[in-house]
Amino acid sequence: MDCTVIRSGRKTLCLQISRTGEVIVRAPLRIPDAEIAHFLERHRAWLEKRLGERHAAPTFSDGERIPVCGTLYRIRSGEKFRTEGDILYLPAQGREQALIRAFRSIAKKRMRSFLDTFCKRNAFGYRTLHITSARGRWGSCSTKGGISFSFRTSFLPDELAEYLALHELCHTVHMDHSAKFWEKVRSIMPDYAVRRKALKDYLWVMDAL
Ligand SMILES: [Zn+2]
Repeated sequence: MDCTVIRSGRKTLCLQISRTGEVIVRAPLRIPDAEIAHFLERHRAWLEKRLGERHAAPTFSDGERIPVCGTLYRIRSGEKFRTEGDILYLPAQGREQALIRAFRSIAKKRMRSFLDTFCKRNAFGYRTLHITSARGRWGSCSTKGGISFSFRTSFLPDELAEYLALHELCHTVHMDHSAKFWEKVRSIMPDYAVRRKALKDYLWVMDAL
């Protein structure tokens, strides 16, 4: 099994799978290679299961299925980005650019609508909304009340995107992830923890476009 060994002053062996599916072993400086090999062998079943669960990076080719707002569509060639039934039409050329453009506009409308609903119902306020290409984070909130979301939120179902909107709005009240912050989130969305956990199934979209 291919893996990268990173030795450091740590005392124990540990296994990690990176976002791109690379197997990483963190190891103490002086541990013999044979012991690392043995450790890997012992965890082979676990590793294979985890690697199998990973969502392969999409290539956006005909016949492939990708989620748009959480609904799975099958990709087919068409003139421009358009959904019909469970088919997603994408132009033959420049598919990724077409998707990014469409996802930006979906994110702008959808995230704006979630934010504004919470603002009306729960007396939040924010100044600006920006859609970014950020990887590794879904959204952010500045001290001045500027909220940003990645266009990648457009892969997500409504209930997860809605949680992200509430999360950033709660940062306009608490700028940290303190107990008070999570209390605020829970007071408005009692099932937030389930939604937050479900976001983990979508981490692959961070590398998808
Ligand atoms: Zn946060």
